[in-house]
Amino acid sequence: MGSLPTQAEQAYDVLIIGAGLSGICSLIHIRKRFPSWRVRVIEAGEDVGGTWYWNRYPGCRFDSESLSYGFSFDKDLLEEWHWKEAFSSQAETHKYIKRVAEKHNLYKDIQFNAKITTAHWNDTEHTWTFVDEAGDKYTARFFISCLGFLSSPTLPAIPGIEDFRGEAFHTSRWPRDLDTSRDFANKRIGVIGTGATGIQTITATSKEPSIKSLSAFQRTANWSAPLRNSEISVEQMAKYRMEYDAIFQRCAETPSCFLHQADPRKSADVTDEERLALWEKLYAEPGFGKWLSVFSDTYTDRQANELYSKFMANKIRERVHDPDVAESLIPKNHGFGTRRVPLESGYFEAFNKPNVHLIDLQKTSISRITADGILTSDGKEHELDVLIYATGFDAITGAFNAIKWHAKDDRPLIASSDSKEGERAIWVDHKPSTFLGLTAPAMPNMFIVLGPHQPFGNATRSIEHAVQVISDLLQYCKDKNYTYVEPTQEAVDEWTQHVIECSKAATLTNEVDSWMTGVNKNVKGKTVRRVARYTGSAIEFRKRCEDCKLSGYKGLMFA
Ligand code: NAP
Repeated sequence: MGSLPTQAEQAYDVLIIGAGLSGICSLIHIRKRFPSWRVRVIEAGEDVGGTWYWNRYPGCRFDSESLSYGFSFDKDLLEEWHWKEAFSSQAETHKYIKRVAEKHNLYKDIQFNAKITTAHWNDTEHTWTFVDEAGDKYTARFFISCLGFLSSPTLPAIPGIEDFRGEAFHTSRWPRDLDTSRDFANKRIGVIGTGATGIQTITATSKEPSIKSLSAFQRTANWSAPLRNSEISVEQMAKYRMEYDAIFQRCAETPSCFLHQADPRKSADVTDEERLALWEKLYAEPGFGKWLSVFSDTYTDRQANELYSKFMANKIRERVHDPDVAESLIPKNHGFGTRRVPLESGYFEAFNKPNVHLIDLQKTSISRITADGILTSDGKEHELDVLIYATGFDAITGAFNAIKWHAKDDRPLIASSDSKEGERAIWVDHKPSTFLGLTAPAMPNMFIVLGPHQPFGNATRSIEHAVQVISDLLQYCKDKNYTYVEPTQEAVDEWTQHVIECSKAATLTNEVDSWMTGVNKNVKGKTVRRVARYTGSAIEFRKRCEDCKLSGYKGLMFA
């Protein structure tokens, strides 16, 4: 390796941005593999955890199985750790991540409370220089973006937000010392948003006996189905520990690395009774099976999807007492599973309570936020003491967009096509171009974990793989004494086209606006759909990464 600048204290061989699961996994592997390298993690929060640090809203928990979520490389911790519930709460998951950080002595290498604001590429030195909000500088040969794909929260573009006199916050910026049983007592609570976060927040808040009322402001009804969580006893956990190898093996064999696999049959291959029997079985079981283990054509064949959606709609009708409310809760603009399905623990029953109200914004939209609450288009003011924004994230590219990039040739990373910088931007209008989702053109020496064009699915499984690929690539650079790596334009174009082609297979999903199709109407430039996720299978993704390595990293330029 060439030498680094002498700015001793803040010059690193590898800088990792973000201390969520991706960041700590990267730190563990890079430190182990390159013991002589200087490695540092820069983190905006006060602790490790990323998503599980920031999202402390009531009801926040996994909806993938706890047993499939731990780091598979840390066998000792798997032996030690007792997952208390089949689907862990935020608190327990955060505890697990902190335990990983303590066990591997990671805290000493993490700079907390430091938010990177600008990044400059130096083409002579082959280094990046990052500056944080406090003005501190960090220079690094290589950097690993562990910024997260759902980490940049967005408030709704509704007039009057600043007028509200009560307490207001976004779910992922939940006040740390807020105690809902104490602080929500006798309060009128409003929640805007009914995605996975809103559904968990609304359900948990509705169960708080001390609240005066809860109003859920729903712009688009979302399909949702039972999580069916349960406790894991000491005896059960002892048994599960012996199954970890099989659990991780099963995850490796499914397209999204979850424990659930689609039924290979098509919906029309079976009788009505057989079809219903499978759906009822899945509905009664815990977890994502009701999304992922259905007939293989459920998300590609419109008729098959309609049948399954009807089944799910009837479940909602059975659970919600007021037929008008039930109809409002049944999505009409998209079929079941074509958006990410939130799993719930009594969401629909929440609306049977006399103090829980659904405000269907398709019937009466929000006109503005006032000092005392929310004014809807029917002229009604919904008076509130607390207003919770469960309004989602500037997904996938948002965390990148929060940094001002001066990439190779001083190019910006993201700009809109109608802006002055649009012509020179790398990801014009938030449209990512990458090679294997791990590298991007004109962004030399950058590697990404869980970024655009990567499979997300079961996050820990995807993270472990991406970190392995990146550390192999760094090993190659070290062995060859390379200080520069960047994908060729040809490789970027080919990979980006492959990602677009894969997305065409997700036919029904492509017809719906959501963060998965790149839409967030609260973000400038994100009003139309774009391909930002890899929707091919994780198996295919891993194969392509392996082929790249075996080819001697064809598609990458080194110096
Ligand atoms: P989201 O799915 O993007 O939902 C945002 C919600 O806010 C939507 O209902 C949206 O309505 C609404 N909204 C946004 N702007 C609005 C406005 N101006 N007026 C009214 N409503 C507005 O975000 P999320 O719920 O935070 O979930 C994001 C992702 O995080 C999930 O899909 C999932 O992948 C992940 N997540 C996972 C878990 C878990 O593992 N358990 C839990 C929570 C989140 P529209 O639909 O009309 O846009």
